[in-house]
Amino acid sequence: MNLILFGPPAAGKGTQAKRLVEERGFIQLSTGDMLRAARASGSELGNKVADIMDNGQLVTDEIVIALIAEQLELNPNAAGFIFDGFPRTVPQAEALDKLLADKGQKIDKVVRLVVDDTALLARVTKRFEDQGRADDNPETFSKRLDAYNAQTAPLLPYYATRGIITEVDGMADIASVAASIDTALA
Ligand code: AMP
Repeated sequence: MNLILFGPPAAGKGTQAKRLVEERGFIQLSTGDMLRAARASGSELGNKVADIMDNGQLVTDEIVIALIAEQLELNPNAAGFIFDGFPRTVPQAEALDKLLADKGQKIDKVVRLVVDDTALLARVTKRFEDQGRADDNPETFSKRLDAYNAQTAPLLPYYATRGIITEVDGMADIASVAASIDTALA
């Protein structure tokens, strides 16, 4: 089972992905986490993406596709992958289809977490206070939301035509969202 958790930044994708990892043994592939790790390690890649991330823009397709390709290769016997924050553009989605097809696999489900912008801003303000992630400051967050609306939301028709999207009310509490996702995956 390969699953995409789809939704705007701060919709709760990471929280739900981590639970699915614990409960089902899936492997979470979060390109945001990978890029933050690259930055923390001071690698060449990390330095290359720092400014783009701090500006709330998307890094190049080439970079994130390579990160995902590497992880798919490193985990040949995974029970399933949860893609969190990837794909974010149509070329990324096409590349992911190809990478999975090479393994005889596909995306089985897309769970879309629906959260309105006001709630997102409230959440991210709290996360900024708690975790101090630079790109969670309100100004940068609004750029991340713009990038989502302009570049990522247009991906929905790409999956909708396959009939694999389930919409979940991401405004509900964490346990209710979890229950809705479990129903979607049953
Ligand atoms: P996230 O934690 O998923 O919100 O990602 C944090 C930042 O990393 C984003 O604002 C982008 O700058 C970058 N990023 C993460 N995933 C991707 C992706 N799939 N495509 C392009 N940029 C990404």
